[in-house]
Amino acid sequence: MAGDKLKNWAGNLEYGTENLYSANSLEQTRDFVKKQSKLKALGTRHCFNNIADSRYQLLSLRSMDKVVALDPQARTVTAEAGISYGQLAPYLDSKGFALHNLASLPHISIAGACSTGTHGSGVKNGNLATAVSALEMLTAAGDVVTLSRQKDGEAFRGAVVGLGALGVITKITLDVQPTFAMRQYVYENLPLSQLKEHFEAIEASAYSVSLFTDWQNQRLNEVWIKSRVEEGKAFNATPEFFGAKLAARNLHPIVELSAENCTEQMGVPGPWYERLPHFRMGFTPSAGKELQSEYFVPRQHAMEAILAVERLRDQVGPHLMISEIRAIAADDLWLSPCYKQPCITIHFTWKQDWPAVSKLLPVIERELAPFKARPHWGKLFTTSPAELKSIYEKLPEFIEMSKKYDPHGKFRNDFLNANIFG
Ligand SMILES: Cc1cc2nc3c(=O)[nH]c(=O)nc-3n(C[C@H](O)[C@H](O)[C@H](O)COP(=O)(O)OP(=O)(O)OC[C@H]3O[C@@H](n4cnc5c(N)ncnc54)[C@H](O)[C@@H]3O)c2cc1C
Repeated sequence: MAGDKLKNWAGNLEYGTENLYSANSLEQTRDFVKKQSKLKALGTRHCFNNIADSRYQLLSLRSMDKVVALDPQARTVTAEAGISYGQLAPYLDSKGFALHNLASLPHISIAGACSTGTHGSGVKNGNLATAVSALEMLTAAGDVVTLSRQKDGEAFRGAVVGLGALGVITKITLDVQPTFAMRQYVYENLPLSQLKEHFEAIEASAYSVSLFTDWQNQRLNEVWIKSRVEEGKAFNATPEFFGAKLAARNLHPIVELSAENCTEQMGVPGPWYERLPHFRMGFTPSAGKELQSEYFVPRQHAMEAILAVERLRDQVGPHLMISEIRAIAADDLWLSPCYKQPCITIHFTWKQDWPAVSKLLPVIERELAPFKARPHWGKLFTTSPAELKSIYEKLPEFIEMSKKYDPHGKFRNDFLNANIFG
């Protein structure tokens, strides 16, 4: 609407400029990038912090949302950067293919998601960026660069989780696999004592497991289990699971909200892309008016870290809508929060009260610091730049690489200047 300021999805961040250019082709994108002295690429605006922001110029590739090529032999799909998982997934499924994992929502763009290390869950599943096998990117000078896992080794691994700092991604090639069906089950009220004793077994009980908790009453409110049907070791949905009870109806992670927004549960089989996300395309994911924070903790410290947060329950409780605990496999992407370490993530969906949340985050971060917890790049954190440097060993190389593709800082914004280049 005229007069409305440009904001991120949650509405907690007003972007620093109203200048938004929408490109429809590689040529248009290149001409635009060449002409600008400062700009930041924008995906579907789902980040909660100012990582995608600019004070000068935003560039959207949202109209560049076509599938370019599906290669059944190589088992890859190449798509334009602005396509969302919600657009790509049904196409892949119709051709008999699937991605290995999805985030809690399908609404986000592939370039925006991979650029921040966005993830789903599963002890054997890497984050979404681990599916990237090649990318095409425009450098600050407007040159087209292609980097691939096969040919470019470290340069590729440095660029995939790139925070939008190296260039404007125009195309991404993703690994695909034969399509598969899944069943989703939800259990209620898992005793914390059971989690303490059986954490590994619970996390490994299915292809993807998510634990939701409000940290109150020594229990986890909901356990979401996503099981592949064809594996031969499909999840056996007994009425009880480590003391938790099988739900008798579909549930939302925030139990007061309508499960209509959520993917089908109760063991009803369905395609991978309608079970891996928690939320359905075409519906509001999560709560809407909210804030989010998330920390990646090396898996060996999982239970210690969970208990450290649980001890903060009285402080956290009043500001929280729900927390989620997930597992992610290690990878070798430089700025991935799972770089060289299998992780669990501890996520917080907060009520939209930044003054309160901004006071709580340092308290949580202090408790998680001994485990070298890494914050999600796209969510709210107060971890200091010095701390980021100490927990991302590849940051110096990343900064070096950025000088090659963006020598004059065309793609840098306040977030990157403070957290990466400061
Ligand atoms: C309701 C909700 C649920 C969420 N659930 C999850 C979850 O399950 N797991 C998880 O990990 N995260 C989750 N997130 C966070 C979110 O998915 C990530 O922050 C993701 O990066 C958002 O993608 P986007 O397309 O909206 O990117 P944006 O927020 O628009 O941009 C993110 C970054 O990508 C860069 N970028 C975008 N497009 C390009 C391009 N073409 N070239 C170069 N750089 C580019 C931007 O510059 C910026 O740095 C959730 C967010 C919301 C709102």
